[in-house]
Amino acid sequence: MDPIRYTLSFPAPQTHYVEVRAKVPTSGHDEVELTMAVWTPGSYLIREYERHVEGLAATAADGSALSVQKSAKNRWSIATGGASVIDVAYRVYGREMSVRTNWVEAGFALINGAPTFLTLADGVPRPHEVTIVLPPSWTRSVTGLTPVEGTNESYCAPSYDLLVDSPILVGSPAVYDFEIEGTPHYLVNEGEAGVFDGARAARDVEAIVREHLRFWGSKPYDRYVFINLITESGGGLEHSNSTVLMTSRWATRTPKAYLGWLELASHEFFHVWNGKRLRPIELGPFDYEREAHTRELWVTEGITDYYGDLLVHRAGLSTREEFLDSLSDKIEALQTTPGRSVQSVSASSFDAWIKHYRPDENSPNTTISYYIKGAVLAFLLDVQIRQTTGGRATLDDAMRAAYEKYSGARGFTREEFRAVVEGVAGTGVGSFWASGIEGTSELDYREALALLGLRFKPAAPPAGKVAPKAWMGAVTKNDGGRLVVSQVRRGTPAYDAGLNADDEIVAMDEFRVRGDQLESRLEQYAPGARVSVLVARRDRLTRLDVTLGTEPPKAWRLEIDPGATSTQSAYLAAWLAGSASR
Ligand SMILES: [Zn+2]
Repeated sequence: MDPIRYTLSFPAPQTHYVEVRAKVPTSGHDEVELTMAVWTPGSYLIREYERHVEGLAATAADGSALSVQKSAKNRWSIATGGASVIDVAYRVYGREMSVRTNWVEAGFALINGAPTFLTLADGVPRPHEVTIVLPPSWTRSVTGLTPVEGTNESYCAPSYDLLVDSPILVGSPAVYDFEIEGTPHYLVNEGEAGVFDGARAARDVEAIVREHLRFWGSKPYDRYVFINLITESGGGLEHSNSTVLMTSRWATRTPKAYLGWLELASHEFFHVWNGKRLRPIELGPFDYEREAHTRELWVTEGITDYYGDLLVHRAGLSTREEFLDSLSDKIEALQTTPGRSVQSVSASSFDAWIKHYRPDENSPNTTISYYIKGAVLAFLLDVQIRQTTGGRATLDDAMRAAYEKYSGARGFTREEFRAVVEGVAGTGVGSFWASGIEGTSELDYREALALLGLRFKPAAPPAGKVAPKAWMGAVTKNDGGRLVVSQVRRGTPAYDAGLNADDEIVAMDEFRVRGDQLESRLEQYAPGARVSVLVARRDRLTRLDVTLGTEPPKAWRLEIDPGATSTQSAYLAAWLAGSASR
């Protein structure tokens, strides 16, 4: 099948445009229809990329203009005049700094497939070739696609899917490479600015890659590229042969920020297996024009997030305490989000398109993240398998078994994934599925912690005679000196008293409270005290009576139980090291 051949150029990158020229085969049709994806796989929101397309025109080989009609919001119908190949030219505006969109500026460009490439709407499989024309001061392009032999800056995607799955960085990045068993890996840093320690990051990424290869026992790619955009933004997106990460240039300067970056890189790399190849049946082949609903994002994202952190630890890049802290962050986030009693993780996954990716001030009250609850469930499931098998099997085994069985073109159904887990566990996990995945009841950590000799840190008793501090429970921000409510969670005094998001707290009783004074002012009250809170709501003053409460103690920080037995310690060591216990 004849390919579509694209040429990308950046004649004025400072204006944030990429110019696209495409040679499109017509297969002899009088009319062809072109379509643009409206979303990017891995990021579950309809984004209407077609709104950034400008000046689309089509010409025949002799340069004569062809008639172009818009046929849908993201489709263009072109009269070919009988030409076998037509030229299509358009410009795409790119100034959204995220891992799934386009960004073009004077020094570099991130080009994602979905928001850039129009393809034939007939859906006939065909190769898609891309050639990059570099601006004079830029040095190279980098992508997970295989370069066309004997060319510079030309790549061939065997399918539209792989084109969309292969973001391209164009600029002058620092490139670090390492080979493992003959397979090249690259860490590509755009924006080091003499601050981000690229050499150290590359060394540690190599250790992470080696740990993942040890975990999975397979390497299903010919080359792999970590595209790391040091742009003071955040996030990551997985692809079959690459990932895009966004981070701060200061990320290598503090242990906490650096560990967060390593865990992000590890998470995205775990997706090479879990998410990109082992996947729910609904997540491919994709319809790029409408939503793909699945209830299994807790597997794709939650289990990945659990192992992202755990494999960083197993690679020797975090201490036990740091790893337990990362896990505690997830448990704490789950246990302090009221939405956990409203939405199951299965429903959270299904509704990702309208809820997780469209959060608002009420989201914590009604939703739970399938990343967070999924990771906590993965932890509990891992320990449950270790327990029921007496330490002979683990969730690691279940993931490898699932990969073995379902990483082909078809994907797995929810029943199939569960059957694999039960096969490895040697017993039913029905109650785990019913309550943990389909339900909203509180998770029980006791057996898991008991097996591993872990416990939640006991709350520190109030120091001396200091009375417990009063608590209102509104999430606030200091908006240029104004104290503004940003979230009101259920079950808090603020919620019960009728505080609203966007209320400006002006005074408590008869005294002014400024943007940075809420904590110190609350210290003037005891739990149970009634306070009159003056708020400005859409500039109108209103008084609300708030009965202050007591801040819930921090009850969700894991630590090793000092009284752990040798059996518990052996389970803990096996879990942290990635081995069976016996
Ligand atoms: Zn992910």
